[in-house]
Amino acid sequence: MIRRDFFKYSLFAASILTTTKINAYLINENIKKSKIVICGGGFSGLTCAKRLKQLDKNLDVTLIEKNENFSSCPFSNLWIGDVKNISYEDLNYDYYKTVEKNRFNFINETIIKIDKDKKLVYTTENIIKYDYLILALGIQYNYKKILKDENKIKKCKVQTPAALIPGNEHLALKRIVKNFNSGNFIISIPNGAYRCPPGPYERACMIANYFQTHKIDAKVIILDPRDKPAAKPYKFLKAFKQFYKNTIIYKPYSSFKDIDFEKKEIIYKNFDEKELEYLDKKISFEQANIIPPNEANSLIKNSGFAVNESGWARLKKPTFRSISDDRVYILGDAQGEYAFAKSAQMANSCGYIVAEEIISRLKKQKFDYKNNMPGNVCYSMVNKNEAVSITHSYEYTNTFIANYEISDISKDVADAAKAWYFGMINEILEI
Ligand SMILES: Cc1cc2nc3c(=O)[nH]c(=O)nc-3n(C[C@H](O)[C@H](O)[C@H](O)COP(=O)(O)OP(=O)(O)OC[C@H]3O[C@@H](n4cnc5c(N)ncnc54)[C@H](O)[C@@H]3O)c2cc1C
Repeated sequence: MIRRDFFKYSLFAASILTTTKINAYLINENIKKSKIVICGGGFSGLTCAKRLKQLDKNLDVTLIEKNENFSSCPFSNLWIGDVKNISYEDLNYDYYKTVEKNRFNFINETIIKIDKDKKLVYTTENIIKYDYLILALGIQYNYKKILKDENKIKKCKVQTPAALIPGNEHLALKRIVKNFNSGNFIISIPNGAYRCPPGPYERACMIANYFQTHKIDAKVIILDPRDKPAAKPYKFLKAFKQFYKNTIIYKPYSSFKDIDFEKKEIIYKNFDEKELEYLDKKISFEQANIIPPNEANSLIKNSGFAVNESGWARLKKPTFRSISDDRVYILGDAQGEYAFAKSAQMANSCGYIVAEEIISRLKKQKFDYKNNMPGNVCYSMVNKNEAVSITHSYEYTNTFIANYEISDISKDVADAAKAWYFGMINEILEI
């Protein structure tokens, strides 16, 4: 409660409906006052809040975030794999410094509903009015696409945590890896788009590295519906062979179908090369990391903002505005219109673009998305000293087209990964 009160009242109190007068003294003479509300204080939302205030310190910007501290997915695989000098503190940060320095309003509450007709955001304790809304709410899992039985879904969440959402799930996965004695550790990757395409392969490397270092008699078995890894494919296949020949088994054309917790078996559909068809196969598991299909946070769809058939938010091309409402922007992993990498770097890059667009819009100036392209770089550790990276640049014809470049595996790339991560954290959290 103390922390919430600090955020709510010590800086600029948010113009909550019941207290709308509080912000009256902040009116900027140059830009007609508009209230910008950002839902979600992860990589994209935090970047956008900070950038908006950098561009105009008098803007009325409110960030709403349910978690009390910022937790990172990037570098979580390194922590799970016990990579030297990466601690739990390196993944978790307070919001105080960035709120204090950038002076946006911060409401530490859970959003429960958005009324797009009345332009209101409902949290557990307040109702907040907006002129422009930025939805930076990240992902959620859709277990129902792979499992019908509710009890099994509950068990999966607890016993085989997906760990694509930071915090509790990462702690659970770390405990599972630390207590692992011997046997098969299964990583099951979903079909379709998901958060951080290279993430599960990096995780396989980090866990295999941990098992080898601790001389644990284990196999890390990757079940992948694809023919090859979803990102940096040949580098990961090379790393599996070069560093983890006897530990990692990569199974392409393999989709999770069911799990039997009593028999400790996973059933998966696998393309049988002799029969030339997909057959059901079983594999025993000691522990597993079942990653279900991903989709945009359900607040987006439930509030009437269009999503595509896979559950990702639809955008009005070439903008990051929702196709359903011109005053509402979608940022980060929840976006579904363009083939953007679902990465923290991309979330950050798009956060900048939306901030610039809103400033132009308030000044009634034209903003050209085609001349403000996002960019991406994504690093993956393949052992405790070396990494591989992919960089994306984009151009626009009738949609965003990605060009990419993949590095070699090297120690230099691992050093660059560390510089990138701590640089990004420093940038958005002012640590
Ligand atoms: C294992 C792993 C490794 C990764 N490694 C990298 C990497 O090396 N490099 C890289 O670029 N990317 C990496 N990523 C991807 C990166 O974490 C995501 O792409 C990034 O977090 C997306 O940012 P976002 O703003 O869309 O979502 P998030 O960062 O998840 O932010 C969403 C925010 O919304 C908040 N929220 C949700 N619902 C509500 C609600 N109802 N009320 C209030 N607040 C709410 C959440 O608490 C959260 O803070 C990795 C991901 C994983 C899982």
